[in-house]
Amino acid sequence: MLSTTPTEGLKDPEIAELFFKEDPEKLFTDLREVGHGSFGAVYSARDVRTNEVVAIKKLFYTGMRSTKKWQDIIKEVRFLQILKHPNIIENKGCYLSEHTAWLVMEYCIGSVSDFLKVHKKPLQEMEIAAITHGALQGLAYLHSHAMIHRDIKAANILLTEQGQVKLADFGLASMVSPASSFAGTPYWMAPEVILAKVEEQQYGTEVDVWSLGITCIELGKHCSLLLCSKF
Ligand code: ATP
Repeated sequence: MLSTTPTEGLKDPEIAELFFKEDPEKLFTDLREVGHGSFGAVYSARDVRTNEVVAIKKLFYTGMRSTKKWQDIIKEVRFLQILKHPNIIENKGCYLSEHTAWLVMEYCIGSVSDFLKVHKKPLQEMEIAAITHGALQGLAYLHSHAMIHRDIKAANILLTEQGQVKLADFGLASMVSPASSFAGTPYWMAPEVILAKVEEQQYGTEVDVWSLGITCIELGKHCSLLLCSKF
């Protein structure tokens, strides 16, 4: 169960043990912003203990709607800690510092959406096939555990330097299937997710396959689906 506020939450041993106790400011240096989402910024950084380059997503839980922000952070941290698959971003530990959660992950060179912005051309069919194949492997793993990503799009599919495909951003994911809440990014949302808002209809893991289909169009056309907000 999710504890309501950060203060209450950290008294709950099950919540407290999701986070390492060290001060992340002392463990990670050379932070450089590499991405920005609606909930915070993502940085590349170096782990001073191992010299490894990592990615750090910083999520603030102060200000307006701090309880909701905290609950969303706990949800995303739980996902990152449970999931282990070569096509899903690897969690390297979560920390807390000054009302900010640090989600440390393996470093990727960027999202497929970042790549499209730089490349400025649609991708080749072979490239789309390779990205789709990697994304489907990650989805098959998630779905076999009855989890739904609910926000599949080029911005949430990352690439490593070696060209491996990694699903990322579990901020809207559901631990259960079927689910019934309205969540996702409009252009990529399956009709049944949109219907969940008006008819309280349930939907299953197949909604991610719909979103991946829209993502293929995004990759092939490089159309400007990129500016949509999320629910
Ligand atoms: P959104 O608004 O899509 O929900 P968010 O705040 O949840 O965004 P992410 O989608 O997780 O954040 O990340 C935002 C961007 O940061 C990605 O599109 C990507 O460019 C970059 N990024 C995220 N994770 C990594 C990583 N592990 N390695 C390198 N870059 C990353």
